[in-house]
Order: sequence, then structure tokens, then C-alpha cells
Amino acid sequence: MLRAGLVRQLAAGIYTWLPLGLKVLRKVEAVIREEMDLAGAQEILMSSVQPAELWKESTRWEAYGPELLRFTDRHDRDFCLGPTHEEIITDLVRGEITSYKQLPCNLYQIQMKFRDEIRPRFGIMRAREFLMKDAYSFHIDADSLEETYQKMHATYCKIFDRLGLEYRAVIADTGNIGGSKSHEFHVLADSGEDRIAFSSLGNYASNVEMTPVTMATSEPLPETEVMQTIETPQQQTVKEVCEFLNTPLSKCLKTLVLDGSKGNLIAIVLRGDHDLNVVKAQKLDEVAIPLRFAEHDEILAAIGCPPGSIGPVGLPIDVLVDQDAALASDFICGANKHGYHLTGVNWTRDLPSPKVFDLREVTTGDLAPEGLGTLDIKKGIEVGHIFQLGTKYSSAMKASVLNENGKAVTMTMGCYGLGVSRIVSAAIEQHNDSKGIIWPKQMTPFYCAIVPINMHKSPSVLQKATMLYETLSKEGYEVLFCDKPERPGVMFTDLELIGVPHRLVLTERGLAKDVIEYKGRTSEETLEVKWSEISSFLDKLR
Ligand code: ATP
Ligand code: MG
Repeated sequence: MLRAGLVRQLAAGIYTWLPLGLKVLRKVEAVIREEMDLAGAQEILMSSVQPAELWKESTRWEAYGPELLRFTDRHDRDFCLGPTHEEIITDLVRGEITSYKQLPCNLYQIQMKFRDEIRPRFGIMRAREFLMKDAYSFHIDADSLEETYQKMHATYCKIFDRLGLEYRAVIADTGNIGGSKSHEFHVLADSGEDRIAFSSLGNYASNVEMTPVTMATSEPLPETEVMQTIETPQQQTVKEVCEFLNTPLSKCLKTLVLDGSKGNLIAIVLRGDHDLNVVKAQKLDEVAIPLRFAEHDEILAAIGCPPGSIGPVGLPIDVLVDQDAALASDFICGANKHGYHLTGVNWTRDLPSPKVFDLREVTTGDLAPEGLGTLDIKKGIEVGHIFQLGTKYSSAMKASVLNENGKAVTMTMGCYGLGVSRIVSAAIEQHNDSKGIIWPKQMTPFYCAIVPINMHKSPSVLQKATMLYETLSKEGYEVLFCDKPERPGVMFTDLELIGVPHRLVLTERGLAKDVIEYKGRTSEETLEVKWSEISSFLDKLR
């Protein structure tokens, strides 16, 4: 985006949009506006400066953490820069809407958000200031919310279809915004930060944060070995232990020590070939939020043994066990004695039956939920997120209406976010080659470019190029006129970099034959198109 002259960085995670970039951003906005309006939502514009009082009412002034940029005005009043607008919209609506007759109501805005991200990165993708479309709906009951939620789900699909993006809607975690049901929309791209699990046969798709493990069996394998202590002087990690004993990773259980919710330390036991799912773990009452692993010295002090040799047998802290680890038999684990491991260990016989939870991340080939096929995992960029908020904000902020019987009822809410600026960078991540951007049709800043060769010396080329520019512009095409005094090669490279789909080259030689040289952004060859046929030729490519 920097090389193509779409944006410039002002500070970490803060950008200026240049003319070419802004043109693309506005195109994305236009599609979003059209589809939101069609879905019956109404546009408003709220302030990005938000008073602390409203955030205190919802209790998020404390809860939101350092991503919220706070400041005071000259009267010493607290404010923040809006990272999202639930508080502001709820305050607006509770003042304006008083009767069930005014519901449902869906309001949206397209506006700059500020989040003091701990690690702004990948340019526009994870910025601190970014453009978001945020919509908020208000309802008399859950059924009405469900109806609007489905409509927004369908609207998001239409938006991404129109933008020409390959995407998936997936079941998602509700995070710190709160609420019950939620879906994320992901643009599929290898550079994505999120991983999404799909079923090979059914429609199931979810963020791996949320994908439950579907167990093939609930029966442990039979016990055949006796428990033995073996010396593992150099072996710390599961991998080292398994290589030393020449057994698969799945035979060895690993024990992670982390903060418990009561200021204590707790252990989580997983199979050696499995990874902890942090989102699942944080949902357990026993686990402190945010999840934090204990340091080497804390483990040594609490257990009397360094992390490389700990295991669940005789462990002096509470143990939570993943369901696959709980089915292991004759397994290997640390002996809680420096430089030793145990083999042939079995639950119940050698240590208490475990407290079992679904704690691991799914992997490719795991059974898919809903009993259809297996899971495949792909990388995705989260470009949209819709939530059923329920009454989290409306009850905290006392937003109610009178129902048919004149009784006050708390409104039910939904919220629907779209990362407008992130969509631009996600589109580039999905559509590019070594030469530069390949814009999907709806996003391209220009439909075609006219390159008049030697225009500054040849009056006929200049005249014809100007004529062509005027004709095509009148026909509604967005045309870039390349009038820079640059060599053709330089202009061609620039056009490929900025991703203009169609290139029209005018030369004296071509004009003598009454032809224009055409090249598509992704094709290798050049075609000669008759001057008189250029409009219909371009029209066919639309
Ligand atoms: P993420 O998990 O990527 O941090 P989020 O869950 O915090 O996203 P929401 O609060 O749901 O995001 O915001 C709605 C949309 O705004 C997201 O789906 C995403 O497309 C976009 N978005 C969020 N944070 C950023 C950011 N730092 N830079 C650009 N776009 C963002
Ligand atoms: Mg975030």
C-alpha cells in the first residue's frame, strides 16, 4: 500500500489516506452504505470523542483496559476516543425511543475508531486509528433481534460478494463486547492472523478459538504397563522425551502451570501432540483472566521441581485435564523430580481420576462437529463481526420502552461491525501477484488507463488520447490518463503496481492502423483493438 501510494504512515498504527487509497476506501464504503440502506438501517454520525460518564455507567471505563485512549479536557472532565460506540448509541436511543411502536430500529455509521492496540502491525490491517462501519439495532424482544441479526448476516454476505472477496462466515467468540451469539466474517488469505476450522462435508465453520473437539470415542485404551520412574537427565520438552524413548508425542502428557482465579497456581494437562486453546481455558472459572503461564522460578518454588520434569502424579496444585489426555493410558509424564519422568502411568490406578474439560485446539483431520466429515483449517482475516448483545448495555444504562401493556421493558440489542479500512488491505492480501495489486472489479480506483506514448511530442497521439479519455469518461468509465513525462516501461510498471485492470496504449504506429493496444492486468499478451470497437470491447469486460 505504501509502494502503490495508497497510504502514508503518520505514527505507529496511524495513517493518512492518499488520493488513490481514498478512492478505493470510498468504493468499499459505497457498497456498504447501499447494502445497509437496503436492509433498512439508517445512517447517523456520532462523535469520536466520548464522555467517561457513559463508559462508567456500562462499567467499561474500568473493564476496557489500556486499548481505550483516555484524556481530560480543560475542565478536568474525563473523555476517551471511541473504540466502539455501544455506550453512545444506547444513550442516544434511550433518550429518543420510548415506545415499542418505534422498534425495531437499526442505526449505523461509518467513522474512524481509535484503539490503542498493543501491537499495531501489518499497516492498515491492525492500525490504531481505522475506519469502521458500526451498526446497532434495538428490539422489543429476542425474536425481533434474531430477525435483524439474520438480515445483517445476509447483508454482510452480499457486501463481500459484491466486493469480489473469498470469505467465510464463522461462529465466533463474543470477547469483551459481551452477549451471546456471534459470527465473524473472514477474508481467506495466508497472511491472516486468525485460523478457521471448516467441515469437509457440512456447513460448519468456526474460529478455531471456538471449535469444540468432537471425540471419536470415550473409551480409554486398556492398561498394560506398570508405572516406572526413568532417568531423563537432558530431556526437558515433550519432543525431547519422546525422541529419547522412541515413542510418539501422543504418548507423553505435558503439564502447563498457570495462574488460577484465586491467586493460586493451577496445572493443565494435555497430550504432547496437542496445543492449549487459550479462549477455551479462559472460560473456566478456575483460570485467571488474562491467562498467564507461571515463570520457571514460581514453578520451582511451588512444586519443588523445574518445568521440564513436572507431571500430574502427586502434583501439589489443582489439575485440569483435557478430554483427550484423560483417555490416555500407559502414558509418560514428568515425575515432579528434576531429571526424571514416569512411564506406564494410568489415571485412577496411579493418580486420582481427572477433572476433564475440552481444552485443546482442534487440528486438521479432527472430526467435525455436527457429525459431518473432518475439519480443515485455513487462515483468515477478520473483516466483520456481528453480535447479539441482548440486554448487556440496555440494562446497565436503563434503556427501556413501554410495551403494548404500558409496562417498561428493557430493549434487546444487536451490534454489527465491519472493518472498512481493513477490507481494503485484506482485498490486497487476497488479490495480488509479484507485480502488485489485482483489484476486484468493485474496488479498483480506475477501471482503465490510457497510456499515450510520446504524447509530449506527437500532437495526434495527444489529441486522440484526449478524445478517448472524454468518450470513455462520458460512458461512465473511471479512466486514468497517464500524462506523466515518463518512459512507457515506468508507466506500465506503475499501472501493474496500482492494479488498474485494463490498459490502453496509444502510439503513432497504432493510430496509423486505427488500433489501440490493449492489455489486461493479469494476461500476458497484448491485443490490437479497432478504435471504433473499443467501447463495446471494454463493455464486455465489465
Ligand atoms: P480483532 O480480533 O482483529 O482485534 P476485534 O474483535 O477487536 O478485532 P471488533 O471489535 O469486532 O474487532 O471490530 C469490528 C471490526 O473492526 C473487526 O471485524 C475488524 O474488521 C475491524 N478492526 C478491529 N480492530 C481493528 C484494527 N486495529 N485495525 C483495523 N481494523 C480493525
Ligand atoms: Mg481487537
